[in-house]
Parts: sequence; C-alpha cells; structure tokens
Amino acid sequence: MAERVYEMLWDCEFCSTRKLLGKTHRFCPNCGARQNPEKRYFPSAEDKVEAGDHEYFGADRLCLACKTANGAKVKFCVSCGGAMDGAASVKLVAGGGAEGPGKAAEEALDALAEERESSGLRRGLKIAAGAAAGVVLLLIGLRLSSKELALSVAAHRWEREVEIESYRGVRDSGWCDAMPSDAYDVSRSREVRSHESVPDGEDCKTVQRDRGDGTFSEEEQCTTRYRDKPVYDEHCRYAVDRWSKLRAESRTGGFADPPSWPEASLARTGSCRGCERQGARHERYSVRLQGGGKEYSCDFDQARWGSMAPGSRWKGKVNALTGLACPALEPLE
Ligand SMILES: [Zn+2]
Ligand SMILES: [Zn+2]
Repeated sequence: MAERVYEMLWDCEFCSTRKLLGKTHRFCPNCGARQNPEKRYFPSAEDKVEAGDHEYFGADRLCLACKTANGAKVKFCVSCGGAMDGAASVKLVAGGGAEGPGKAAEEALDALAEERESSGLRRGLKIAAGAAAGVVLLLIGLRLSSKELALSVAAHRWEREVEIESYRGVRDSGWCDAMPSDAYDVSRSREVRSHESVPDGEDCKTVQRDRGDGTFSEEEQCTTRYRDKPVYDEHCRYAVDRWSKLRAESRTGGFADPPSWPEASLARTGSCRGCERQGARHERYSVRLQGGGKEYSCDFDQARWGSMAPGSRWKGKVNALTGLACPALEPLE
C-alpha cells in the first residue's frame, strides 16, 4: 500500500486549545502562541487529517536564538530573523501504531511484566547454578577419594558364544523408494514423510513515522505468514530373505577348563531358505577379586586373565564413584 501523509497534532500550552494541526497551525489560531514542536503527537484514527501539501523538504529545524521551529528550507527564523545556519532538527516523535495512544502504555506494562518475569527466572537460575556447583564439587571429592586395597583372586570365569544365523524371510519397513529390490509380501501406506513451509496469508500492521515538519507518513507493512504442510509418501512393509541371528550356542568354564568354542550344530548348510551358518563370536573373561570385605569383578583379555593365578594377591585402587580400577591392578609381593 502506498504511503499516505497526515498532519501531526499539538495542544496549545497557553489557552488549552487541543488537536491543532502540526503543519497548518504553526501558531495557535486562538491565542497566537507559537507551536512547540516537542509536543507534537500522533492523532487517533478518527482525528486523522490528511496533509494537503505533500512537498517534503525535511524535518523542521529549531532556531538557535529563540527555539522557534522553522521549515527545513527557511534561511532566517520566521520569528526572530536570526540565521538558521547550523540549526538542529526537531526531535522526532517515536513511531506510532494504528492502535492509538493506548499502545505505548500497554507496551510499557508488558516491558515491566517481562522484567519481573526475567528477574524471577534469574533468581531461579542462580539457585540452580549453585546447586549444580555443589554437585560437581561433591563428585570431584568422591572421585579424588581413592583408597588402596590388597585383593586376592577368588574365582575365574570364561564365556564363549557363537551366533547361529539362518537364511529366512524377515520383516522390515521403510520408504518405498528405498525398498530392497528383492522384497516381497509388500503392503503400502501413505504416511507423512516431511513438512513443507507454505505461505498462508499475511500479517499486516500500520506503521506511522514522524516526518518532523508537522506531518507524519503512514504505511502498511505486511509480512507473509507460513504454515507447515505435511508431505506424504508411500511407506512399505515387506519381507526380505536375509541371514539373521536365530540363536546362540554358548559355553562357560573356570580357570581349570581351557576356554574353547561351543560346537555349532547347523541344521542345513548352503544358501537355501532355512539354511544355517555361524555368525558373530563373542568371548568374555572375568576374574572375581576379594579385599577389604568386598567383592569386585574385572573383565580382561584372555592372556591377562590366564596370568592371574587363583589365590594370587594384587594391589588395587578403589574409588567410591567408579569402583575398582581393573587395568591398574599390580601384583602384590
Ligand atoms: Zn492558544
Ligand atoms: Zn528565532
């Protein structure tokens, strides 16, 4: 929308005539008093008067000698005749909205409420920060409080596992455009895959700007509003033939039993549906230690595990937070 120009208003300070026009009435028509440019204000919607003369030269300037507001192009003050060289422009009235004079007060209240809210929030944050610092100090304290302990090996245990996989139909799902080519038994459904931002009307407000010469301009400023629109796509549920874990064979033992892999008895080998093969292998070696009236458990690799004889004695560090430091165990002479 095009810019429109209206007259600012002012009230005479001497005879209390109200709603005088900023551009037309440089002097009060009632008592002849000079307009004070600092007392100009935006009119309410029903008091708006369009400025007839649209020629704009710039904001008024204040005479250095007598403080009279003169048009931007005036070379000598209309009131005292003083030279206008170097005269400063009048202070502009802060931009008004179409909502009228109540708006400024509302904004001030809002600002006050916001300030109160944020100071409450700040207090809350301070308390939270204090509590967090306390917790951190406590944790550091616990972490530092390690004590040395004499330990003896009480038990050994090993565990070995072989996964058995079978080649068979497994169910899976995904977007249809990424479905494996050998999928079968497919069911499709339309589901939301993403969201798209689409224009959804405009939010407009009227912006008023003081031009400083007793008039103000009014312009409607609009911004496009957006909304999220779901984008649908085909989602597929399907079956595919794949090798997948069916079961696991495991074997366990102690120090006296040499670790060995369990026998994997496969139903059928090959690559048929229902055929089986060996999958991933897992092994675990743990040692139980006793000391200071407590028990601890450590996992090691097989070599280290085998080097810790039953009943052998070790020096370890126990931390209140992290427990026994297993890798740092040292033989105790
Ligand atoms: Zn007057
Ligand atoms: Zn003057």
